[in-house]
This record gives sequence, C-alpha cells and structure tokens, in this order.
Amino acid sequence: MSRVPDPLITIAEARELVAAVATPLGVETVAIADARDRVLAEDLRAAGDVPPFPCSAMDGYAVAPGPAGRTLEVVGESRAGAPAAQPLGPDEAIRISTGGAIPAGATAVIPQENVDAGNGSILTRSQVEEGDHIRGRGEDMRAGTTVLHAGSVLGAAELGAAVAAGAGAVSVARRPRVQVLSTGDELKAPGEPLGPGEIHNSNGPMLVALAAHQGAVCAPPARLPDDRAATEAGLARALETADVVIVSGGVSVGPHDHVKPALAELGVEQVFWRVALQPGKPTWFGRRGTRLVFGLPGNPVSAVVTFGLFVRPALAALQGRAAERLLVPEAVLATPVRRNPDRDQALRVRLERQDGMLMATPNGPQGSHIVTSLLGADALALVPAGEGELEAGTTVTLEPLPR
Ligand code: AMP
Ligand code: MG
Repeated sequence: MSRVPDPLITIAEARELVAAVATPLGVETVAIADARDRVLAEDLRAAGDVPPFPCSAMDGYAVAPGPAGRTLEVVGESRAGAPAAQPLGPDEAIRISTGGAIPAGATAVIPQENVDAGNGSILTRSQVEEGDHIRGRGEDMRAGTTVLHAGSVLGAAELGAAVAAGAGAVSVARRPRVQVLSTGDELKAPGEPLGPGEIHNSNGPMLVALAAHQGAVCAPPARLPDDRAATEAGLARALETADVVIVSGGVSVGPHDHVKPALAELGVEQVFWRVALQPGKPTWFGRRGTRLVFGLPGNPVSAVVTFGLFVRPALAALQGRAAERLLVPEAVLATPVRRNPDRDQALRVRLERQDGMLMATPNGPQGSHIVTSLLGADALALVPAGEGELEAGTTVTLEPLPR
C-alpha cells in the first residue's frame, strides 16, 4: 500500500491556525520608564485636559485685544510653572513666557517682537485680536477621551502622549517567554573551530534576535544533539517555563529527526505540519495547553522565513498587538521568476521605486541555505504556486522581512 503524504496547507491556512490559538498572555502594570516598546493592554484615557490651562504660545505680554499704538503698564509676570500673582486690569500688560498661564482678565498675547518695551510699560506695535497666541485648555486632549488604544506599541510618541495624559504607569501585555532550541549534531557555537562535517549554529542567535525584536523575553538559546532522549529532555525543560518554544531543525522525517516524536511523547498536540511554502515546507506547529511550539526547518533562510510568516504573528497576538503590516504591501517583479508547481515561494527581494512603481528584485541566489540572501533584503515577496514563470511586471504581495 502506498503511503498517502500529509497534505500541505497554505500559508493563509497555517496563519489562521496560529491566530486561533495565540491569544494574549496576560497583563501587568509597568512604570512609564519601563514601558518602552511594550504593548498597551487597555485603552488609555486622558486624566485631565491637556493643556490643563490656557497658556501662551509665545514669549510676550498677556493683554486685552485692541488696536496698535496702546501704551500698557507692565504689572507682573507669568512664567511657565509660575503664574502671575494678580489678574490683568485695564491698560495693563503682564509679561508672559511660552507655556505661562494666561492671567485672569487677559484674552490675548502680543509677542515681544511686536512691542516697544519701555520703563515699566510697553507700546503695542500691532493690532491684537481676541485669542491671539493662546493655547486653549484641552486643545491637545480632552479629559476622559481615549488617547491610546489597547494594542498600541509604546514608542516615543505613545510614551509622550501617555505621560501628557497623566499616566505614571501603564497596563501592558506580559511579554512572551521564548526558548530557542537548535537541533543538530553538526552545530558549533559561534566562533568555535569546526571539525569535519560541522557548521556554525546560525539559527540560535538569529531566532533569539528575531523573537526579542517582537517583544519576547528570550532564555539563553540551547543546542540539542540529534538524539531522541536528549531532544525529549531538552523540549521538556523548555516547556516548563517558556510560553513559546522555537525549535529549529530535526523536524523532517529523516532517521535523525527526533523533534516530532519527542513532542508527541510530551503531549504537545500537532496543529499543523508542512506548509505549501518554499522555503519552509517542513514547518510544524503545535500546542500543549497555552504553550506554543514551533518546529522550524533547519536551513537558516527557511527558519527566518517561517519565523516571519508564522512565529512573528503569534508573538504579536500573544501581546494583543496586530501583526506588522507594510505601508505598501505590493510590488512589481523586476525580473521573471520560475514558479514552484506545488508551493508558494517567499523570495527575499530588494525594493526600489521606479517611475512611481515599487519594483522587487530577488536578492541574489534564493537557496534556503544562502544566509547572505537575507543581507540587504527589504521584504519577502510571495510568488504563488503554479506552472511556468511569473513574468517581469507581475504584481506580487509583500510581507515584511522579519528583523
Ligand atoms: P534539518 O532541518 O535538521 O534537516 O537541517 C536542514 C539543514 O539546515 C542542514 O543542512 C543543517 O545542517 C542546517 N541547519 C540545521 N540547524 C541549523 C542551525 N542552527 N544553523 C545553521 N544551519 C542549520
Ligand atoms: Mg538536523
């Protein structure tokens, strides 16, 4: 009886399966100083109006509106952080600096370059209209309005807005704990001399970098030999603490591929295995309770591509954040590309604007072992499975290159 091969699932199907099980891990509160790059877990509302009081947009004088040519007595000062002691009376001016509170009775500011300053008085040289150079209370934020939505990544602008809105601490998604495991007897640690048949473990540091960039807290990466018992022990240890285990290599069906049977033994339930993707066909995804396990192919480019397509959206979803999207998610092929009859291809491409079009050029040889094809690449371009060639000029979908 001939063995029926497992059917390959599409990239989209695989991603749906990942999305169905990757849900936010939980919430914690962190001080603003520790919140950079974290994902906001709850909508953040302004505690008060911002600015909290009407203030000056210029260095000058708080005055009443009126024509040019008025002589006004300077009766006080309002500096940022130190409001004037008294209100403004008729024919008076109060010196004011940018950010200074508008004194009671004043409804405009005349910039200092528009006055002749004398001894205790000023002569206005321009007409002043009601509201001139005043920043209104709540112009930036109104008390109670939502300033940041759950799922926002707290970059510089978001942190600035959160602080202005009155937050001293924010509720953020717990970061996923990730364990990267590299399988292979041939693997040597970075910088170690190579014996016969050995190579350096590129995937370990690459996958840690990729996961960390997605907000994961990565345990030190570990290597597992091609041995069934050791593989099982290593995976069991990882599953004790990690929310996500990313294991590279050893997931195919060769005599030295122990990952799948070890995971089955450990009660990790398979969600999918093998995707119609080149590079990246032997990709495995499973779960044990809330723990997620990705078995990525050993070839470094395959590992990066499958991380980008499947692990990256999972790490985003575990933090309640939308997956990254490209501003321009399409490009036009600059050169013809031979298609794979059975699998979509994820090409590493360079992007260039030409005549207003985004052109995608394959970034050198595309073999799954060619790590250098990742260098200088701008995106992944998806070439759908099919016969023959995709002609130059064909529009293809782009995916962000994982970094
Ligand atoms: P495997 O998926 O274990 O069959 O490995 C496929 C190919 O990827 C083999 O040529 C391995 O030597 C290579 N490979 C596996 N793991 C790594 C790694 N961590 N770094 C670099 N190459 C690897
Ligand atoms: Mg191997």
